[in-house]
Amino acid sequence: MSDYILVLDEGTTSTRAMLFARDGALAASAQAPLNQHYPQSGWVEHDPREIWDKTLACARDVITKAGGAASVAAIGITNQRETVVAWDRTTGEPLTNAIVWQDRRTEPFCAKLRAAGHEPHVQRRTGLLLDPYFSGTKMRWMLDNVPEVKAAADKGTLAFGTVESWLTFKLTGHAHHVSDATNASRTLLLPLEGADWDESLCDLLGVPRAALPRIIDCAGGDLATDPDLFGSAIAITGFAGDQQAATIGQACLAPGQTKATYGTGAFVLTCQGEAIPQSTNRLLGTVLTQLGGKRTYAIEGSVFVAGSLVQWLRDSLGIVDVASQTEELARSIPDSGGVVIVPALSGLGAPHWQAEARGVIAGLSFASGKAHLARAALEAMAHQTHDLANAFAADGAPWQSLRIDGGMAANDWMAQDLADMLGITVERPGFVETTALGAAMLAATGAGLYPDLDAAAQAMRGRLARFEPQMDDGVRQERLGRWRKALGAA
Ligand code: ADP
Repeated sequence: MSDYILVLDEGTTSTRAMLFARDGALAASAQAPLNQHYPQSGWVEHDPREIWDKTLACARDVITKAGGAASVAAIGITNQRETVVAWDRTTGEPLTNAIVWQDRRTEPFCAKLRAAGHEPHVQRRTGLLLDPYFSGTKMRWMLDNVPEVKAAADKGTLAFGTVESWLTFKLTGHAHHVSDATNASRTLLLPLEGADWDESLCDLLGVPRAALPRIIDCAGGDLATDPDLFGSAIAITGFAGDQQAATIGQACLAPGQTKATYGTGAFVLTCQGEAIPQSTNRLLGTVLTQLGGKRTYAIEGSVFVAGSLVQWLRDSLGIVDVASQTEELARSIPDSGGVVIVPALSGLGAPHWQAEARGVIAGLSFASGKAHLARAALEAMAHQTHDLANAFAADGAPWQSLRIDGGMAANDWMAQDLADMLGITVERPGFVETTALGAAMLAATGAGLYPDLDAAAQAMRGRLARFEPQMDDGVRQERLGRWRKALGAA
């Protein structure tokens, strides 16, 4: 019997292979760092060959630990979203470096499209905004600026894809050029409602339809690895972009169920079920799953600065030696003494979208010390999340509870403060690698080990810690009042 699910988790800074047992227990893992290339200010690139080589090495490492390919029931892939790879489908070789999601080089093109009035239509169709973040304008940039990409397009051998598409092409021995619907929904080229690429959006962005992958479900299908890679073929049956995978790993599968990942920044997704998201508060609409050709959707909002504020307290101010010390400092005082931090260190994300805003520390007095700053930094997470909650509710997606993960979610004080300020239950799984777990759940479902994602969640998710709201509403309102005033100053 094949005992394991192999997850390939392609992050921005590292690539990992993780082996899960059927009950969701992590059996083995391997990891390799990915080199970042910064050819110019605002540009971020990866070498697609390095992504493939390191993925293959990590996968071989854990497959050996599993006892060989026959012990692996299926592979699931989750990945950094929006990053674009261009390759030649006849040689299987990349034509240029990958342009990474963080890359801002296409801002002038986006600005031109916005100025021409295209954004409302694009947002209605795709759920996205005309921002360099998304894949489509990165494809156009390659066509305009890399002669090899243009030449391949003219010859009809150009293949564009996001990272899961590139890896699947390599894993299947160059047999399949596919992209799952969650990754495809981050390109600006896929309508939320349409099964396939939209010709008029392809024309608007100048991306040839022929270079795009076939869109596939997030689970199931008949793809398998080239038998030469791992000794025998392994089915590839699960796919999702990292934030969608984390949402699935947190079992946010019914409308209103919400997860927030607190890492460097914070990413929040609320499941919308089959309802098409239409934001009027500059939140994003995205595909959450596509199974048997049927989609579910999510509303997404992100905050730029979360854990990076704690890093700043540690590295620039020296207030703590390690991030987790913020918890004991916050507990050492009854309140922040009126100190409020607005963490707009690199602008404000959703729902404010103020790229030019900068950080503020308000309410300082001679009584303010390290502990007050640490506490105010943690409180800022709840304040930012509270603003997002309001925007989601205004878009018709109120939160029932909040399921948290990411490095910062280990902070119990912050988890309790979130519950208090949001007035809802906050849950934290014991196993916080929810992105990889979500990909494992998809792959296990796709391989027929479980009948559906709900059953996979039942079997594979572990115990939860729960935080219930306890704060007096007067205290909550007072804090929110101070936060709004400080926000005005930012
Ligand atoms: P990413 O995946 O974005 O690299 P992680 O999920 O690993 O980030 O989270 C790391 C971030 O969380 C760091 O910015 C760190 O400052 C913060 N962090 C980690 N542990 C704690 C803690 N116990 N309390 C507060 N912040 C923490």
